[in-house]
Amino acid sequence: MIQSLLIANRGEIACRIIRTARRLGIWTVAVYSDADAKALHVRMADEAVHIGPPAVAESYLRGEKIIAAAKETGAEAIHPGYGFLSENADFAEKVIKAGLVWVGPKPDSIRAMGLKDAAKKLMADAGVPVTPGYLGEDQDSKRLQKEAGAIGYPVLIKAVAGGGGKGMRKVDASKDFQDALESCKREAASSFGDDRVLIEKYILSPRHIEVQVFGDSHGNVVHLFERDCSLQRRHQKVIEEAPAPGMDEATREAVTSAAVRAAKAVNYEGAGTIEFIADASEGLKGDRIWFMEMNTRLQVEHPVTEEITGQDLVEWQLRVASGETLPLAQDELAIDGWAIEARLYAEDPAKGFLPSVGKLEHFDLGEDGRIETGVEEGDAISPFYDPMIAKLVARGDTREEAIGELASILDEAEVWPVKTNAGFLFNALLDEDFGDARIDTGFIERKLDQLVPNADPDDSIWRAAAAVATAEDEGDPAAGLAGFRLNAMSQPSASLGHGGEFRRVLLDDEPIAAASGFRDDERVVVFYEGQAYEFERAARGSVGASAADGALIAPMPGKVTSVEVSRGEKVAKGQRLLTLEAMKMEHGLVAPFDGTVTELTAKAGTQVSEGTTLALVEANS
Ligand code: ADP
Ligand code: ADP
Ligand code: MG
Repeated sequence: MIQSLLIANRGEIACRIIRTARRLGIWTVAVYSDADAKALHVRMADEAVHIGPPAVAESYLRGEKIIAAAKETGAEAIHPGYGFLSENADFAEKVIKAGLVWVGPKPDSIRAMGLKDAAKKLMADAGVPVTPGYLGEDQDSKRLQKEAGAIGYPVLIKAVAGGGGKGMRKVDASKDFQDALESCKREAASSFGDDRVLIEKYILSPRHIEVQVFGDSHGNVVHLFERDCSLQRRHQKVIEEAPAPGMDEATREAVTSAAVRAAKAVNYEGAGTIEFIADASEGLKGDRIWFMEMNTRLQVEHPVTEEITGQDLVEWQLRVASGETLPLAQDELAIDGWAIEARLYAEDPAKGFLPSVGKLEHFDLGEDGRIETGVEEGDAISPFYDPMIAKLVARGDTREEAIGELASILDEAEVWPVKTNAGFLFNALLDEDFGDARIDTGFIERKLDQLVPNADPDDSIWRAAAAVATAEDEGDPAAGLAGFRLNAMSQPSASLGHGGEFRRVLLDDEPIAAASGFRDDERVVVFYEGQAYEFERAARGSVGASAADGALIAPMPGKVTSVEVSRGEKVAKGQRLLTLEAMKMEHGLVAPFDGTVTELTAKAGTQVSEGTTLALVEANS
């Protein structure tokens, strides 16, 4: 077994690899850019080497710097994680030439699967069913259009060098073909430096089914069953699960044996994923699942496979890279239970999923389930890297149980002020069609409007915010919504603002959302079903504090010495309504505008605490 390992990656996957390496007694070396000098993966590793400025092209993609860092620290092996250099065959080759152990497949296997057209050809030759289409030796645009017509619309134009959902265009009719081709080629050239494309039949009712495979250097290949990654946005996975719902044994046998055949065809070593597209219009059927591509690395969603097989795939990778045989044979592997993963992104669904950057002032994903993250409270989400901040993974005996567990993790997720998709994920999990496994890759797009949470709080959330604002225990910022007690003298109300709207919220018998939250002097933040709602607190210490909503709030503890109006009375702006005696001085509280006194809780002679709402004036309309 190797004794030391450099991890050529960052974020959650670097942390996840370090954890397993540490458990196996392996010395770990992190690499980092300027932006990551204080990142969690650097703090976790035994040693860390600076490799350059924040931009990935100048740091995490600089193969020679990474190899030099391994040499300099005496690391024996390099684990590339996913993304970055993980599927770069030239880099793998240089690592091996430098006398280091490459934790991944042989460079030739990576190369064989690197381009989608060549990979499909190879797979077809190996007897693996491939998505029908044109592999495109001839890239003439008229020829491509003719082939598209022969395949039959809708078709998908795909960059042969594509990845990450980029360089793909669905075309519904012949008249749209040339425009789509041009824009696809443009994107492919700029993203991958290769504008060649292939054309595939666009599979209807598509489900993304993939199989985890593993090979060793002794010629053994096994599969670790399938995952369903059909919940996608813009061809990028958002929620993944294992096993695939509705997969019967015959279909599983067909797809997993095709995957093993595919891996054997490229003498595969290490962790890999064979991705298939299924026509699920009549459920999953063995003869309606086609090879799409192979990812020659550890996949983002590998934890769901670990959760249902009880295996640590990073440990498998390190053992295989060290020359050991696979830890288990095929007949020693079995599916136990159900697992589901959601990718938590720093983005704002309400603003078209715009990435959200900045410091994680508040970051608490709870204690339940399996949380894979590369950040902690106080860390910053930088604009330089992938906005995925965590993977939330839940396991259950059944699908329903796993979904319930993940929904509750999301419900309790507290992230602020960085925006996340937690509320969106929560809604997707609780969707009835999702619960019944009526899923396909168009699910999210179709339901977008109902899945994107409303950014404005409803009444029960205003009340939850008021409860947080008035909760008794100042020492406990999250002071119990569950059991907050009101000060004997205070009034059960709070003045709050949200998005320019001000309200005085009465805590009467109406229900309060089962939320959590915290407060400081300026604001109250409430977390509910994955969403963060921020409220301004009415400024304290100013008499007649919240002019905008007409609430008269005691600016300090004191005694009401006189009340000069009665409820229902019309008052004029500036008119004195009551007098508070505090710190040996009298303070007059005046009407903030012309209106009517609609609430009057102040009584002459009573002691009130700071923040108590004494009266409410409503503007004349
Ligand atoms: P990438 O390299 O970007 O991951 P893939 O070839 O794996 O590209 O395709 C990404 C996604 O696009 C798939 O998960 C699937 O949702 C969709 N897709 C790909 N090919 C087809 C197809 N022939 N028909 C329908 N959907 C497809
Ligand atoms: P998967 O099928 O595992 O989602 P993708 O091809 O979409 O595979 O990419 C794998 C993951 O790698 C992405 O989800 C993304 O988080 C990450 N990734 C891809 N490119 C980069 C990059 N340049 N920097 C950091 N992470 C990346
Ligand atoms: Mg793919």
